[in-house]
Amino acid sequence: MVGAGLSGAVIGRKLAEAGHSIVVCDERNHIAGNCYTERDSDTGVMVHVYGPHIFHTDDEEVWSYVNSFQTFLPFVNRVKTTSGGRVYLLPVNLHTINQFFGKTLRPDEARDFITSIAESSIEDPKTFEEQALKFVGRDLYEAFFKGYTVKQWGCSPTELPASILKRLPVRFNYDDNYFFHRFQGMPENGYTEMVERILKHDRIEVRLSHRFTRSDTHDFDHVFYSGPLDGYYDFELGRLGYRTLDFERFNYDGDYQGCAVMNYGDLGVPYTRITEHKHFSPWEKHEKSICYREFSRACEEGDIPYYPIRMADEKALLERYVERASAEQQVTFVGRLGTYRYLDMDVTIREALDTANAYLGSLAGQAKLGAFFVTP
Ligand SMILES: Cc1cc2nc3c(=O)[nH]c(=O)nc-3n(C[C@H](O)[C@H](O)[C@H](O)COP(=O)(O)OP(=O)(O)OC[C@H]3O[C@@H](n4cnc5c(N)ncnc54)[C@H](O)[C@@H]3O)c2cc1C
Repeated sequence: MVGAGLSGAVIGRKLAEAGHSIVVCDERNHIAGNCYTERDSDTGVMVHVYGPHIFHTDDEEVWSYVNSFQTFLPFVNRVKTTSGGRVYLLPVNLHTINQFFGKTLRPDEARDFITSIAESSIEDPKTFEEQALKFVGRDLYEAFFKGYTVKQWGCSPTELPASILKRLPVRFNYDDNYFFHRFQGMPENGYTEMVERILKHDRIEVRLSHRFTRSDTHDFDHVFYSGPLDGYYDFELGRLGYRTLDFERFNYDGDYQGCAVMNYGDLGVPYTRITEHKHFSPWEKHEKSICYREFSRACEEGDIPYYPIRMADEKALLERYVERASAEQQVTFVGRLGTYRYLDMDVTIREALDTANAYLGSLAGQAKLGAFFVTP
């Protein structure tokens, strides 16, 4: 397993349980990949080192899988945003609309009101901006969508495809739970302990600070590679584009913002959001606090790749890498970097379990597992 994140850990565990001897390596000096959490020794706060991770899923099997390695405690993601000098609730809901426009609308009235201010003259929206204007009109678009999108993606919403905003991004009730999924929670002692327990098996050996290169492939019967697909080929065809994040970490004596996530929609504020990590463990009490200001920018060589960009140019390059990888017999590319997709944790675990089963099936004479279980 190349990578000791969720992909490598879950596949490794499943194959170890089936009797295989597994080596899990990671170039970092710790397990758990981007979900890595560590308790800060000064404040006692559980810090999500590579940015906050909230577990949410509709997949009952995945939910019981994670709960078998760690107790998950209730956490509901309720995001706030500061825009134009005021604080609002996200996702944009009835409370946001009433507060923003100084009204007391009920759901049906709000629906009619939004329809009346939406730019209905846009018939066939081509860009993110046109789609947003068609859905919610200029005022809401500029307050809640425009600035955040510019900062997050580093380009104008007029350059992004309309497909990003598939549905009306507004709720006509007071539900401010960010996620729709049935199960949502946080691991009591963090994700690192959960991954540690997944990896704790007699037939699993973990090698940290160990960078895997293509030439190592022949030392193993099979390699599951959760590193970057283009990295496996030494970026020979070019680099797949990513956005990266810079976290400006700061301490605060007390409660800095009163919530876990505060977005900043205004373009005058350079960061996209501030996260306050103790609020991700609401069952714990800490006097002191640790916060991250989050800045998004283009990923360059040496940066951590966070969000795949997947626009036309990247997709064309991805296709060339996929074509090249498809010839591999001994390697399967998995996870968010191996398949160049944004994957939530639950989807990562689901695909990892299915990939391991497909591999075991192929050894038992069923269909052969190729370079991809899910072709990106
Ligand atoms: C900022 C951010 C916030 C997120 N928040 C959420 C959230 O709230 N909820 C949610 O469900 N999901 C969230 N996710 C998604 C979540 O991080 C992923 O689902 C998960 O990390 C994917 O696991 P993985 O094992 O595929 O990849 P990773 O966790 O990235 O693990 C890959 C590992 O491979 C190692 N590696 C790479 N190349 C090599 C090499 N050549 N040799 C050795 N090791 C190598 C890396 O060091 C890394 O540790 C978030 C993602 C980001 C970027």
